[in-house]
Amino acid sequence: YLEVENLRVAFGQKEVLKGVSLAVEKGELVTLLGPSGCGKSTLLRTIAGLEHPNSGKLLLDGQEIQDRAVKERQIGMVFQSYALFPNMTTYENIAFGLRVKKIAKKEIEEKVQQMLALVELTECQHQLVTSLSGGQQQRVALARALIIEPKLLLLDEPLSALDARIRKQLQIKLRQIQQELGMTMIFVTHDQEEAMRISDRVHVLSAGELAQVSTPYELYTQPHNQFVAEFIGDYN
Ligand code: ATP
Ligand code: MG
Repeated sequence: YLEVENLRVAFGQKEVLKGVSLAVEKGELVTLLGPSGCGKSTLLRTIAGLEHPNSGKLLLDGQEIQDRAVKERQIGMVFQSYALFPNMTTYENIAFGLRVKKIAKKEIEEKVQQMLALVELTECQHQLVTSLSGGQQQRVALARALIIEPKLLLLDEPLSALDARIRKQLQIKLRQIQQELGMTMIFVTHDQEEAMRISDRVHVLSAGELAQVSTPYELYTQPHNQFVAEFIGDYN
């Protein structure tokens, strides 16, 4: 469904992605796991079209997208800092992406109410987002990305600013929503436990190269090399 072929990205002399290839199936949630600076965000940003690869191919739903503009890729993105519109309510933030598409008001209302129910924010819909907790704000950000029904949703450490208890709750919630909607997601994290908990498959990235791709269980029981063993071992 998403195919990344031999992607290379350099900033000046520095090669940050050294020929990364991966494939994500439709409806799958995969994580990109690796230490700070290994190239996780760069890989996501390149898939989204925010960085230009020096070489390599990107295919989404059978079509090459590496030369397409960001807006034409039908890819959504959620970041660590939620970047909501502070002067708008929860409802308005979630509705925004549909309003700019000029969809009928009644249809927008229905979709937003469905989405509010999905992320359990119906009660907060008329509140300004600045009055919400961090966990609630991140759910608004998620809803805002989901409502435009992207072919692929990229999440760059979306939960890392939250405290451990809320983070755990949202991991479960996110996974539930992802399965319910059959949404395809790539989730970036440097947290081994988070990756283990939510993903179908984990991609371990080390200094711009994939060190291992496997199910959480396999990663844990059969690390392919010392880097993976030590990185996963850090969390035991
Ligand atoms: P973290 O877990 O800290 O978010 P990361 O795995 O997301 O790290 P990236 O942000 O992809 O890492 O950065 C990978 C490397 O590329 C880093 O050494 C970073 O300094 C470098 N880099 C990223 N963006 C740029 C840029 N626009 N110009 C120059 N160097 C960059
Ligand atoms: Mg990053």
